[in-house]
Amino acid sequence: MSARPGKPSSGRAGWSRRRGIEAFTSPSVMSFQQLQAEVAALVRADEISRRRWACDRPDCDGLPHTGWLHNHARAAQRTPSWAWTVWMPLTGRGWGKTRTAAETVREWAKAPGLQIAVVAKNATLVRDICFDSPKSGLLAVIPPEDIARYNSSLGETSIRLRNGTIIRGFGAETPDNLRGWAFDKAWCDEYAAWSRNTAQDVYDMLWFCLREADTPQMLISTTPKPLPHIKRLVERG
Ligand SMILES: [Zn+2]
Repeated sequence: MSARPGKPSSGRAGWSRRRGIEAFTSPSVMSFQQLQAEVAALVRADEISRRRWACDRPDCDGLPHTGWLHNHARAAQRTPSWAWTVWMPLTGRGWGKTRTAAETVREWAKAPGLQIAVVAKNATLVRDICFDSPKSGLLAVIPPEDIARYNSSLGETSIRLRNGTIIRGFGAETPDNLRGWAFDKAWCDEYAAWSRNTAQDVYDMLWFCLREADTPQMLISTTPKPLPHIKRLVERG
């Protein structure tokens, strides 16, 4: 649990953030109110850790200065790695959740040589919604000239960009689908719709696959509708 050599402060921030993630209950067994409370707590924790390490000087070199007696974050270390790690667009109707998530992936994919995972309930949904959806899928938001190859095969859906970044689709039926992969970023689509039997395991496996990333980021998009299994759990108290 020691910080990685060469990047003491970002490593430490990464560790405490990871600890927060491990305590994060599976969204598939939480009520909408619980989800909102969890997300608010995560955002608050992120804010606090950012304030603890980052001063207001736009060009700060991280060495002690007035008001900051200890070493702290250099300006270059503040964003985007500290911007957010888990983000859940929870608002409802007409918000363009899928499109917003796809555009976030598009922003990530501008960096060359990344591995990005897109995980939906199953292989068909990841292809037909996350990649192919006409107005909001990845193919709709990524400029065609940036795409070197699109593989639309079920179970192997992927986009290879000209800059070497690869976006791969996975079904959340079993964590084995993700086993052995290493990613830099991940998008979990419609998390509350994943099978309640495997959702937590797939989620944990995904974090395991992100462990080597410099700035691991996970976007969780989910619709706040009372799915039967959530409703049951809430009613049971
Ligand atoms: Zn400073």
